[in-house]
Amino acid sequence: MGAVNLERAGWRPELVEAFTPYNADGLQPARVAAELNHIFRLWTAEGEILAEASGRLRHEAAGRHELPAVGDWVAFRPDASTALSASPRGRIEAILPRKSAFTRKVAGSETRQQVVAANIDTVFLVSSLDRDFNPRRVERYLLLAAQSGAHPVIVLNKTDLAGPHVDAAVDAIREVAQAAPIHAISAKTAAGLDTLAPYLGSGETVALLGSSGVGKSSIINALAGEDLLRTRSVRESDSRGRHTSTHRQMVRLPGGALLIDTPGMRELQLWDVGETLNQTFEDIDALAAGCRFRDCRHVSEPGCAVKAAAASGALPQARYDSFQKLQAEREAFEVRHDERALIEEKRRSKIMGKALRARIKEKGR
Ligand code: GDP
Ligand code: ZN
Repeated sequence: MGAVNLERAGWRPELVEAFTPYNADGLQPARVAAELNHIFRLWTAEGEILAEASGRLRHEAAGRHELPAVGDWVAFRPDASTALSASPRGRIEAILPRKSAFTRKVAGSETRQQVVAANIDTVFLVSSLDRDFNPRRVERYLLLAAQSGAHPVIVLNKTDLAGPHVDAAVDAIREVAQAAPIHAISAKTAAGLDTLAPYLGSGETVALLGSSGVGKSSIINALAGEDLLRTRSVRESDSRGRHTSTHRQMVRLPGGALLIDTPGMRELQLWDVGETLNQTFEDIDALAAGCRFRDCRHVSEPGCAVKAAAASGALPQARYDSFQKLQAEREAFEVRHDERALIEEKRRSKIMGKALRARIKEKGR
């Protein structure tokens, strides 16, 4: 990519003030467009460079959430010795305040968080109107969006498969949508796609969330007007089942919007709603203060105040059932996720290390 105007990368006037002290220090602003194994691709005012986090930034970070993530605005110091080379490099010295962030728990840890994408303005919560349609799931994606600070927009895809049931589906979603707008579209026929245009203005940063198979890649391709990504039907015949976006994590759509599609965003699942689960069950939380055991799961523990309240009718049975159901799902997710995350991390660092070495070699020529 040639020179990148920072506005085109989503720079906003508010950032000028946050950047002032770094400016005085001789640093330059840039946006993180991709990460490969702790090497970041930055969009700078002058073009694209590769950078690492400075030792100081790494040491002073209280956790992985204080390390750069795709979508972050950062202050970097260009490496003078590579400035005129074909592959200029730099060091990231600081992260500017985030407007929004999607985080997930680091595998095997209760409290450590990792930012998977930052500074997203609008997140499309995608579900499909075929057999996977489920307003409960949309409700929970809304919680995930609320935690991030990005504006949620509900996208119901595959209207072409829903026949006359589209209106009923939209009505069902409206019950859980709160203030979020709802758009019924078909990535296949392009019906309704244009209704997404208001969120896709120049410099606007968007991302898609939703279960696998709902059509996220198809929507991205339809919006891009070209096949940026392989869709699932193609991926399945690909023995590696890998996603081509691993090295194109932030891309500009033709209208100027910036679309973030990282593997981490793809893997964000409902177990990440953990914290919010407690907020939406404040009644149960309050009752739990009276349980004998602090880690009571309110199933069969002696002295459980929640079970007692359900038995006496003080807590509606439906409320209790719904809490138990979510809790069970979350626990199942967490076990699977921790195992899977370890395997996945090993696999990915292998693939990315390879890709990066190839890239450096190619650039060095
Ligand atoms: P992702 O896993 O969310 O990225 O989903 P994909 O974009 O890979 O789509 C999953 C499958 O649904 C693919 O076979 C797509 O061709 C199909 N698909 C996506 N959008 C539509 C749509 O609007 N209508 C129909 N009929 N099929 C779609
Ligand atoms: Zn209890």
